Amino acid sequence: MSRVRNFCAGPCTLPTEVLAEVRDELLDFEGSGMSLIEMSHRSPEYDAVHEDALDRMRRALEVPQDFEVLFLQGGGLLQFAMVPMNLAPAGSTVGYVRSGAWGKAAHADAARATWAYLAWDGQDGGFTRMPRPEEIEVRPDTRYVHVTSNETIEGIQARALPDLAVPLVVDMSSDFLTRSVEWERVDLVYGGVQKNLGPAGLAGVVIRRSALDECVAGLPSYLSFPSHAKTRSLLNTPPMFSIYVMGKMLRWIEDRGGLRGMAERAERRSGRIYDVIEASDGFYTNPADPQVRSRTNVVFRMADPDLDARFLADARAAGLVNLKGHRSVGGMRASIYNAMPDEGVDELAGFMRDFAEAPDE
Ligand code: PMP
Repeated sequence: MSRVRNFCAGPCTLPTEVLAEVRDELLDFEGSGMSLIEMSHRSPEYDAVHEDALDRMRRALEVPQDFEVLFLQGGGLLQFAMVPMNLAPAGSTVGYVRSGAWGKAAHADAARATWAYLAWDGQDGGFTRMPRPEEIEVRPDTRYVHVTSNETIEGIQARALPDLAVPLVVDMSSDFLTRSVEWERVDLVYGGVQKNLGPAGLAGVVIRRSALDECVAGLPSYLSFPSHAKTRSLLNTPPMFSIYVMGKMLRWIEDRGGLRGMAERAERRSGRIYDVIEASDGFYTNPADPQVRSRTNVVFRMADPDLDARFLADARAAGLVNLKGHRSVGGMRASIYNAMPDEGVDELAGFMRDFAEAPDE
């Protein structure tokens, strides 16, 4: 077996230990004579897996008691719609921080669902920094301000969530469980799990109970947060396989120091690649303000873009894959999520140094 170092922005690498466990259980889950994905979602076996994953998510993310954890389908994108539909009653407005491509998309969807204004806009600045709290406009009757804690495409990350006069809604799709959350500032946090926590097909949503009580009434059942909370995310058939694998990944995270362990890893490992960029004498550059460089998505370009194709081909030959930057920004991007082994990051750092020394060989 030969596994590559997969720096994909999502879905992404999972620990081989977790994949091997899934493989071992695939034909016969705990003596049931069938795999978990062949079972009823109302079976006691699945119920135990489901409750265990909900508990582990709560523990790992250090979710306070006055918040509810939900598992929903539709990825991060469905939350762009569900959040304003549920949280913004008639007569209110919602503010969006446009800090990158994902913040922009979240605002565009919210504006389709309700009255949504731009509370801060980084587009003219080329999405290279995050706003200071005092730069974020909070208009009268604002129900919440939406921020994207980490912009996956541009590789910028807010080190702390802003403390505003109104609650935050935070899209943590690309730094979920790699940093702690200032819970007192937020009403809702969400993220697709396919980057730091498991396979695609699932979003984790953590919502304050008081916000749940005030959700807009009368929405179709799947689109309503309270209907998922009342049924412990078993309103309909859930994405069982994703929840099952995520539960294993959450255990893997707990075994490695939980949230603190992951935060330390993210800082140290992204730092290794930023060090190579900085020491390269301009061979590699990163456009972001160093204060907000992402700890999960390290974006860089080469002074000579004609070298891009060779860089990617040589990296591929060295077993380092999916390093091409998003098509909208070009250059390179190394996504270093929780499950990336340290050795993968070391190999990438070594490869980048060697390539910068002899790009024509
Ligand atoms: N928000 C951010 C910050 C993302 O990175 C992504 C996916 N890359 C999304 C939202 C959309 O998530 P999904 O693909 O799970 O719908």
